[in-house]
Amino acid sequence: MKYHRYHINTKNTPLEDLLIFKTVVNRSEICINCGICQTACPYDVHERNANFRAVGVHEQEAGIATKGWSWFDMPKMASPKNANCTTCFHCVNECPVGALSLSSNPDYKTHGDDYYTPGTIETVLFESKTGRVPVSGAGYRGPFAGEGFDGIWTDMSEIVRPTRDGIHGRESISTAVMIGRKPKKILPGSSQNAAAAVELGLPLVFNEPPAFAARDKNLSQSLLRAAEDIQTLALLDADDAQEKSSPHAVACFKNSSLSWKGPEAPKICQIDLSAQKMNDWPACWEKTKATWPQTMVMVKIALENAAIPQIVRLAEMGAEIFHLSASPRAKTTDGLHLTQALRTADEALIEAGLRDEVTLVASGGLTAAEHLAKSILCGADVIAIDVAYLIALGVTRFKTDGAGIEIEGPAIFPAPHIAVQRLKNLAGSWRDQLLEILGAMGMRDVQRMTGDTGRMMLNEELEKEFKALFKPMRKQDDPNYG
Ligand code: SF4
Ligand code: SF4
Repeated sequence: MKYHRYHINTKNTPLEDLLIFKTVVNRSEICINCGICQTACPYDVHERNANFRAVGVHEQEAGIATKGWSWFDMPKMASPKNANCTTCFHCVNECPVGALSLSSNPDYKTHGDDYYTPGTIETVLFESKTGRVPVSGAGYRGPFAGEGFDGIWTDMSEIVRPTRDGIHGRESISTAVMIGRKPKKILPGSSQNAAAAVELGLPLVFNEPPAFAARDKNLSQSLLRAAEDIQTLALLDADDAQEKSSPHAVACFKNSSLSWKGPEAPKICQIDLSAQKMNDWPACWEKTKATWPQTMVMVKIALENAAIPQIVRLAEMGAEIFHLSASPRAKTTDGLHLTQALRTADEALIEAGLRDEVTLVASGGLTAAEHLAKSILCGADVIAIDVAYLIALGVTRFKTDGAGIEIEGPAIFPAPHIAVQRLKNLAGSWRDQLLEILGAMGMRDVQRMTGDTGRMMLNEELEKEFKALFKPMRKQDDPNYG
């Protein structure tokens, strides 16, 4: 069999009518039409009106002797293409008459909310348009400390020892993950062997669409086709999954009343236990396994501390995959950040000796490639994205809260051929960023990263340690000082 290295094919795929930009380039009336800004701008913001030819050319073609032409004869400069501007100020400095200025675009801040900021949305749009890693020439301008994901740093000490020919070279780094029950040993004739794990090309799946787009045909078709192309899974409403009949579709049931008309049992299904009483969880799981013994069952649970003993209980009973969900703002129902709750769940399963046997899928508020790496370090095997893919498909005017996401107006998704490529671009960009992180951490396999809290630093803990170091030096803090 020919060796095939896993790769996501990315391709520039713009959404024509979606323009989000921070800066407006203003050209005042004193412009002398010299065109210097056109030469100065590296991003083609300034251009002359289309289909122009200098006055002198017309005259020459007509065989008329010309006296030459000047800037004033040239077609006028077109309106600046604001969306291309990177706010470098080069044209402003070069304009000989001071006709150019930059100002903030008031529309920019109307996209997203305080969690999914316009900057976050811009980044996801860039990633899903180009499939490339967003790199800013001005370097990282985000916070180095803060709540949740911003308070976690990854240990990139191995960055001083890069591989011989880079992360895309011969020494490949694997982003493949196994999802499903992984028994510690294969027992001859045991039914546990049947619950074989499946391999995904990367630790990312597409979560169920939110209520406002739950049965949108374009969206479910696009998610599934993208999942098939990049070897991952799309979580779909059970009826949609039944229609599609693909091994990449996870049939999602709202509870354990399993309404399924397909001739064969689904390969993977999800039962959502979030609304069920915790005491009923074991019975729901047992009922599902009794109905479809060969089906991998993903148990969706709204993550909170009180749920963790029940998660361990279900793992003891043989549950294969847990989908631990938080709100779209990465908060659990008891107010913890997703990453904190994940660490607790991971530790509880390790203590019970069951961690290696089950898969943890985390979802909620995962909107950047770094969130993928940080969630894995905190104990997730795989993440499920949702709002991030909606943004990639052009949903940018929305608000989120603990309950969900609310959009302005109807959701209109692009045609599948565009949507699929943009979803693949997003996944490709995030995978490349994950490879960069793994390379810098000296890891060859993303599965080694799961729960490796020793390779991350928490800003909160570092601050405590740092303050403790200096405390005795401050007279007001130490009664024994001096
Ligand atoms: S450089 Fe200034 S004067 Fe020349 S075309 Fe541009 S805006 Fe007008
Ligand atoms: S500020 Fe820079 S990127 Fe923006 S229009 Fe001027 S030269 Fe181009």
